[in-house]
Amino acid sequence: MDIIFYHPALTVDNWLQELKQAIPQARIRQWTKDDDAAADYALVWNPPVEVLRQRKNLKAVFVLGAGVDAILNKFQQYPDMLAPGVSLYRLEDTGMVQQMQEYAVSQVLHWFRRFDDYQLQKMAGKWLPLDEYRHEEFTVGLLGAGVLGSKVAESLAAWGFPVRCWSRSKKNYAGVSSYAGDEELSAFLSGTRVLINLLPNTPQTTGIINQSLLNQLAEGAYVLNLARGAHLIETDLLAALASGRVKGAMLDVFAKEPLPADSPLWRHPRVAITPHIAAMSRPDEAAAFIARTIALIEEGTPTTGEVSITRGY
Ligand code: NAP
Repeated sequence: MDIIFYHPALTVDNWLQELKQAIPQARIRQWTKDDDAAADYALVWNPPVEVLRQRKNLKAVFVLGAGVDAILNKFQQYPDMLAPGVSLYRLEDTGMVQQMQEYAVSQVLHWFRRFDDYQLQKMAGKWLPLDEYRHEEFTVGLLGAGVLGSKVAESLAAWGFPVRCWSRSKKNYAGVSSYAGDEELSAFLSGTRVLINLLPNTPQTTGIINQSLLNQLAEGAYVLNLARGAHLIETDLLAALASGRVKGAMLDVFAKEPLPADSPLWRHPRVAITPHIAAMSRPDEAAAFIARTIALIEEGTPTTGEVSITRGY
């Protein structure tokens, strides 16, 4: 079995070592320019079109992350990049669930315990105990309830917050109310105090966090964008912050990354920023997931992680 690997930024040696251990029967090579030899599988992130186009023997491509919006855009640009019949997989969890839970729980507790207000008071040299917030007025709503959203929802429910999620299909997660489809979006938003985005970026979800959506949240809401910058209209968020409709935001992803130096988000006192680090797949767990999935594909057993190219995630 031959596997080619391409990633423009990762510390490749570590990945190759983990992959060789997890799939010892495979010959694994890093793609280099002019490599047009056959490969059964390709493991890639943001690959040049030549890594996949006309690759002989290719059965499946694994994207080395959870989101597939970038590669699907590239397939649109180069319709012959992926031959018909070659399946596309993505990484599920591989360490990202725990990181997303840590990120979301710590930030929701930060807002719930009013540490944002106390930080501003501290900057003003002000000693003033504030009224406490109650769990029942702190409903958390997850946009997206898949591999990551479902687990973040469950971890917040365990902290005693009322939690709801919105997805395409109805869910049955312990302690989480489920809303599904466009017809239930308004009901989901109404009363949501903390909105957490874990949707995939698709033509249906691009720009979803806009003025109309923000206006339907509870007064003084908080927004946590952990998915993609394209989901959020940044000017609409700034307007909602200015009006007080939204009280605070924490953003890990941006329309343009790195976030341009002149973006007003940098200096906004009620906006916290991290540089797209909410969750990253861990090489050892990713290698184990890829090895397991390849074994199932080879024996013809159905497996998870396959992307529906027409659906967009
Ligand atoms: P996933 O398992 O595919 O879950 C996607 C969820 O979104 C599903 O619940 C799906 O509904 C729902 N959904 C999709 N389109 C929808 C629509 N039009 N209306 C309503 N719901 C819709 O994805 P995941 O693994 O949880 O990852 C989610 C996203 O997180 C990724 O796509 C990626 O962009 C982002 N991410 C960001 C980072 C970071 O570091 N910031 C790291 C990892 C991932 P159904 O369940 O009904 O299909």
